[in-house]
Amino acid sequence: MSWPLPPALGPRVEAAAAVSRELGVPVYLVGGLVRDLVLGRENRDLDLVVEGDGIAFARRLAEVLGGRVREHREFLTAVVIDAEGFHLDVATARSEFYRAPAALPEVATSAIRQDLYRRDFTINTLAIRLGPDRRPALIDHFGGRDDLEAGVLRVLHSMSFIDDPTRVLRAVRLEQRLGFRMSPETLRLVEVAREEGVFARLSGSRLREELVLLLDDPQMALPGIERLAGLGLLGELHPELRLGEAERRTLWAAVGAWDWYRIQGLEQPPVALWRLLLAALTAGLDEPGRRALADRLQLVGANRRALVDGAERRRRVRALLAGDPAPHAVAAALEQTSGEDLLLLLAEGEPCERSSVRRYLRELRGFELAIRGADLVAAGVPPGPAIGEALRRTREARLDGVIGAGEELAFAREQALALTEVEAVPAGGGGRLGLDRPGGEGR
Ligand code: ATP
Repeated sequence: MSWPLPPALGPRVEAAAAVSRELGVPVYLVGGLVRDLVLGRENRDLDLVVEGDGIAFARRLAEVLGGRVREHREFLTAVVIDAEGFHLDVATARSEFYRAPAALPEVATSAIRQDLYRRDFTINTLAIRLGPDRRPALIDHFGGRDDLEAGVLRVLHSMSFIDDPTRVLRAVRLEQRLGFRMSPETLRLVEVAREEGVFARLSGSRLREELVLLLDDPQMALPGIERLAGLGLLGELHPELRLGEAERRTLWAAVGAWDWYRIQGLEQPPVALWRLLLAALTAGLDEPGRRALADRLQLVGANRRALVDGAERRRRVRALLAGDPAPHAVAAALEQTSGEDLLLLLAEGEPCERSSVRRYLRELRGFELAIRGADLVAAGVPPGPAIGEALRRTREARLDGVIGAGEELAFAREQALALTEVEAVPAGGGGRLGLDRPGGEGR
């Protein structure tokens, strides 16, 4: 074979070839790994197809590799997990009969050519026959090699996108990732699929999974969105979704904010790039529109909140920031704000709002007092709820610059004792309520 395997894969592929010879069944290396081997790109997905009993092959391979096997008998597939925890996917060569467009395929045993024919693009139909004959051979039934060299994505037949509309999104992703282009005929079939309305029959979860893969990659996301818009596919997500100048500006600014966040080495709160970009792209939709899109993508929990409620939350935070609040109030408001919303505030906000958010992320967010409750007890404060409250006030005073680093203990102790005194006074009994801070009222 003229393509060197990554060192981690060599012995495993050798083992698969040996088992193929031992059992006398043809075994093929398939999928993205073969494509990427020819392209000289990194890939560690080991996908094997067996022309015969894939499950029996997987069991034997697991024995040889000293691993275990997880079988999925209804799909005639198995995963071999070797002694080092590496996964090898094993499938039985199969063809698929589509019961209805966009439905899940049924599985039936068949040969490698038919198995490869059900794949998405010619470049993904290349296979390497590992055995049982000793010389590995490249199998190229559908002109995948030429298309790889020409940088072309081509479906195998005219019903491909009707059978499975996610392939359109895969095409957009592969275009970006490999720097390829769909062939003119394939582009025309995208158009046909759109006109036929096949995307409406696509399940929310599959649509979401593909979209997330595209939007979660910083290199692919923006050109991918441009491509989706160019192909008229944004409207398939929501009829009012479009990529105008305002959306472009927000998207670019969001990516800029995300870059800044990473360059600063910040990791908390976590930011999911896809959620950030989906929120940026949909910032122009109204709330019912965003809700409808969340329904379409079957988003739940934090993913749903990021899309549906984010705009309103950001509006509230911006109103608060516009009042030039004290640092501790900025921190209190932003601590409740998700990572995506913080970056969108950086992207959309006025300069002074942006500098508040940046300062929060860089300085205020992780701020911790040098003292603990135990220090107050050691300084003579009786244990009790006043300690927690005193520490909270001390943190505020530190954030606002009312006290310096060396004054924490004295300030906290004074606060705690004053609180304890107030608690000790019976209701209506007066007592000292003014909690004067050294250095004045702060802000
Ligand atoms: P990635 O690196 O993003 O995982 P990939 O193409 O290398 O992409 P998979 O997405 O895991 O790998 O897919 C493995 C193979 O399965 C692909 O090479 C492709 O031929 C095939 N495949 C995946 N999805 C589809 C689909 N919707 N229709 C047909 N074939 C598919």
